[in-house]
Amino acid sequence: MKTIRDYIRTIPDFPHEGILFRDVTTLFADAHGFRLAIDGMVRPWAEARIDKVVGLEARGFILGGAIAHELSTGFVPVRKQGKLPGPRLSQSYHLEYGEAVMEIHEDAIRPGERILIVDDLLATGGTCHAGVQLVQRLGGQIAGCSFIIDLPDLGGHRLLDSLGLQVSVLCS
Ligand code: IMP
Repeated sequence: MKTIRDYIRTIPDFPHEGILFRDVTTLFADAHGFRLAIDGMVRPWAEARIDKVVGLEARGFILGGAIAHELSTGFVPVRKQGKLPGPRLSQSYHLEYGEAVMEIHEDAIRPGERILIVDDLLATGGTCHAGVQLVQRLGGQIAGCSFIIDLPDLGGHRLLDSLGLQVSVLCS
């Protein structure tokens, strides 16, 4: 029986020379692979009280919609700057070269709601940290963060641990 790792393709030198890009589109395209991913990401949180799932653009939307459906919660997108139409909060974060900005609708989360953040891959943790900050600025509580892949050498898991956040990953 194939495992999650078997469905993920690694592409060298994308988007830059020297980068090994983990491509999860091959996992998403396979019915068994996608079910393995969604079931595995939901399992650790099935008994937790989660009010909303927050997905990080863009692969976090594909995962987050299915996970929210399984957990019977709402879904909230955290988007790259300039994509959300309504009143929004912005949070900048560091990339390897330069800065980027993520945004959330101001009315997407109510104070005290418990939030599960989801994305495909945890590298430096910068993207997830921006999502965590946006949720917290709206008064939400982070129940945890769920990823398919962790690249532990890049420090994201350590960063989220240091913030006291619970993290689940399916493979590294
Ligand atoms: P971080 O902010 O450094 O943790 O990078 C994680 C973000 O970049 C996530 O939103 C990922 O979707 C994306 N990302 C970084 N590297 C890869 C990769 O190799 N495959 C797929 N997504 C990646």
